[in-house]
Amino acid sequence: MTSSTAKFNPRPWSYSRIKCAQECLTRFYINYVLKIRGQATVPMLEGSRKHAAFEEILKGEETHYIYTQEEWDAWLRVEPLVRGGKAEVKLTINEYRQHCHDDDAYLLGYLDACMGHLVVDWKMGQGMMYDKLQADIYAALNATAQNIQWPFMVSFVFPFVDVDKDEAPSVTFTYGRNTTDHADSITETFERIKAIIDGLEGEIELCNPDKAGDWEPNLDACMGCLVWNHCNHYTKELQWRTTIA
Ligand code: SF4
Repeated sequence: MTSSTAKFNPRPWSYSRIKCAQECLTRFYINYVLKIRGQATVPMLEGSRKHAAFEEILKGEETHYIYTQEEWDAWLRVEPLVRGGKAEVKLTINEYRQHCHDDDAYLLGYLDACMGHLVVDWKMGQGMMYDKLQADIYAALNATAQNIQWPFMVSFVFPFVDVDKDEAPSVTFTYGRNTTDHADSITETFERIKAIIDGLEGEIELCNPDKAGDWEPNLDACMGCLVWNHCNHYTKELQWRTTIA
């Protein structure tokens, strides 16, 4: 592996950047320092296509996608939830939790659908997989960048699960000015995110952008990834696993 830059700034952080760095610093290095993303899988491409189609419809644009009946039915189930909302809303905030321009961005996110008090993130798979950290990040962004009144919600919606029912299942988190039984404090939520980022930036600070070997992976958790063929660790692991098989 060769380096593309002598100085690396990991900001702005996003949910996908944070998850990538948490799971494997080697992959983070390949993805964000070398800027190699790997070939997307068919389910990933399908998910992106469905996201793009929902976005176009919500924006009232002519859709470039040909829907299957299942996809159109899925949209009809969720449309009342997001009617009148904005699609693909880009939000950025700085590390002091203030709205900012891209150049100063500390945290960045694209909201699939936003109705002010409600943020919706589409999950296009067949299972109900989600991560609370993603909701926390969208909540911090939405509360700050849009200066909305509390309380408000972040909801993961699963348009392709339980398709025989009238409503798509969802998982919703509520955020408010203070922590209550029903709501997370937005200040504490942002501090939690910041603590995670501080830890990751501390690790990255110790890594030399010119030395790929400094970006240590979590090999125990490695199941391969989209950039495995750029990863020296995986090649060694694979050889080792093949040798003892
Ligand atoms: S193959 Fe494994 S160790 Fe290598 S970058 Fe991907 S996740 Fe990390």
